[in-house]
Amino acid sequence: MAKLVDYPFHIGITEAGPKGRGIIKSAIGIGTLLLKGIGDTIRVSLTAPPVEEIRAGYGILTSLGLRGGVDLVSCPTCGRCEVDLVRLVDEVEKRLSHPQYRVHLKVAIMGCVVNGPGEAREADIGVAFGKGVGLLFKKGKPYMKVREEEAVDALMDEVRGYGG
Ligand code: SF4
Repeated sequence: MAKLVDYPFHIGITEAGPKGRGIIKSAIGIGTLLLKGIGDTIRVSLTAPPVEEIRAGYGILTSLGLRGGVDLVSCPTCGRCEVDLVRLVDEVEKRLSHPQYRVHLKVAIMGCVVNGPGEAREADIGVAFGKGVGLLFKKGKPYMKVREEEAVDALMDEVRGYGG
């Protein structure tokens, strides 16, 4: 139809299901169409609070580079990690999911000083953690040390500094 008519298309996966599976189905379905240039508005339908549908929709658009937003990268953690990285990343993701953060930015949160600094340097803002402390990077340069418990606030301050 998109080849035949010039109308705007509204796309979504109907009855996608609960949050986890529904987001995956919606991302694949909506994302595939958007990558083909099909779709002018989107809808995510989850058996979950509506705010989750909005978050998923923003996530799909941001991941495809179709909307400003922070690209958050983080490591999977391993035996080298000496901080509660899962909790730290969850907290940053929760705060960044607010629609106010529309700035194009890459943020990296890494769990150790062995492999973390490389990825942290590649991002606009990065942090590589050691034992209870994180080294913040800005545009590839080490910037300051923060204690683990202050790291999320410090990272968010930097994001806001970029106009986020
Ligand atoms: S960055 Fe460090 S802690 Fe994270 S997975 Fe890689 S080696 Fe492990």
